[in-house]
Amino acid sequence: MTCIFCRIARGEVPSQVVYQDEEIFAFRDVNPQAPTHVLIIPRKHIAGLQELSPDDSALVARLILAAPRIAEAEDIAARGYRLVANMGPDAGQVVQHLHFHLLGGRPLRALC
Ligand code: 5GP
Ligand code: ZN
Repeated sequence: MTCIFCRIARGEVPSQVVYQDEEIFAFRDVNPQAPTHVLIIPRKHIAGLQELSPDDSALVARLILAAPRIAEAEDIAARGYRLVANMGPDAGQVVQHLHFHLLGGRPLRALC
């Protein structure tokens, strides 16, 4: 398995870990687009949103529920933040391992 995010979640590639438990892993983006830019991923390899099945419902909830907790810890909860999952080329998905970007710490431009 050469997936970079699988390797990060296993600790084979160093990262700045923000949160981890038995199912999910959160670490700072190497190329941050905001003062807080954290990637929240499942430890299990899932290529993207299209690969999710109903069996993953609890895992998806866990990934999303981590966001407000991390935002609190990063002290950006009160001012606000954005949770984004890029899916496919038009969205600019580069890494084929499901991840949510948690962005905050500055005003974020409207996406649409
Ligand atoms: P995507 O465009 O696929 O939604 O986002 C992938 C993100 O992963 C990018 O923001 C990129 O900076 C980040 N990234 C790619 N490789 C690494 C890495 O090795 N370490 C860390 N911490 N972030 C990475
Ligand atoms: Zn992976």
